[in-house]
Amino acid sequence: MQIDLRSDTVTRPTPGMLKFMFNAKVGDDVFKEDPSINELEQKAASIFGKEAGIYCPSGTMTNQTAIKVHTQPGDELICDATAHVYNYEGGGIAFNSGVQTKLIQGDNGRFTSKQLEQALHPYADWLPKTSLVVIENTSNRGGGSYYTLDNVKKISQVCKKNKLNLHLDGARIFNALAETGDNAKEYGKACDSISICLSKGLGAPVGSVLIGNAEFVAKARRIRKLLGGGMRQGGYLAAAGIYALDNHVKRLKEDHQRAKRIAGILKNKSYVKSMLPVETNIIIFSLDNSMPADTFTNALKKDNILISMIGNNALRIVTHLDFNDKMLKTVETALKKI
Ligand SMILES: *Cc1c(COP(=O)(O)O)cnc(C)c1O
Repeated sequence: MQIDLRSDTVTRPTPGMLKFMFNAKVGDDVFKEDPSINELEQKAASIFGKEAGIYCPSGTMTNQTAIKVHTQPGDELICDATAHVYNYEGGGIAFNSGVQTKLIQGDNGRFTSKQLEQALHPYADWLPKTSLVVIENTSNRGGGSYYTLDNVKKISQVCKKNKLNLHLDGARIFNALAETGDNAKEYGKACDSISICLSKGLGAPVGSVLIGNAEFVAKARRIRKLLGGGMRQGGYLAAAGIYALDNHVKRLKEDHQRAKRIAGILKNKSYVKSMLPVETNIIIFSLDNSMPADTFTNALKKDNILISMIGNNALRIVTHLDFNDKMLKTVETALKKI
């Protein structure tokens, strides 16, 4: 059996999820007539205490839609240098919104309200108009690091004071909430819009939801349509999201515990040069010259274990719903041999 730890996106629907999908009630969502999509959108919004949500095929689409709604061409967006919206969405900020980006060099993907204040500039005809701040929680390239709620609240205050909108790329917000125990509704209060991914740790095959107030979501529906994301009987897919929110949120801590176990073994390896703090389900580490990254990944591959190389001799392991304790044992045994 293969053990795939390249990403938490590799999960397959569970039998329970498939059964739930199969029995979904559907309709034409472009006419807002798909009961399952409507239910998912409302469910996701209410978790965060927001008015409305909009279901999209991907997290890239929810993020890019939010950016388009919050900005005008020529505006400036502020995010961390490692941000997914900046690095891994195909240059979409420029392509879709005509917006330029100011990057903050944060701490493993997170920045402080003070750093945000320093990145702001006064209003002038010749300066770009800053209109949007994006935070990512947990941070993917930051090794699954999470914000404290206190930091998010302070960032939100700076945004409000300066009339900036705040978007949360919450692809893995439930991983952060599982660790901190923070109330999701506090994030709803702090952020103008929130994107959540159902297809990462939550184990749905497809889908993300963009959450905000009713006016924001009405605008987002226009943008989703022009990006080609208006789906018809998508309720079969949305049902997977409903099932994921009902059944797969509480278990996320298991993924974090397994990631910490793997990190514990790696830390004792002489050839592991550095590792980002393992706070949730992502382990990012680098190897020294005595162990080329492909030698390491090939050794694991012999035991049917897949992990990913992310450049500069750095490697990434991500735990998820389809990785259990038995597989963890296999991985531990394999790592001890290398
Ligand atoms: C995965 C991810 C997204 C969305 O990616 P899609 O593959 O388009 O669903 C957005 N932000 C972060 C931080 C992610 O990890």
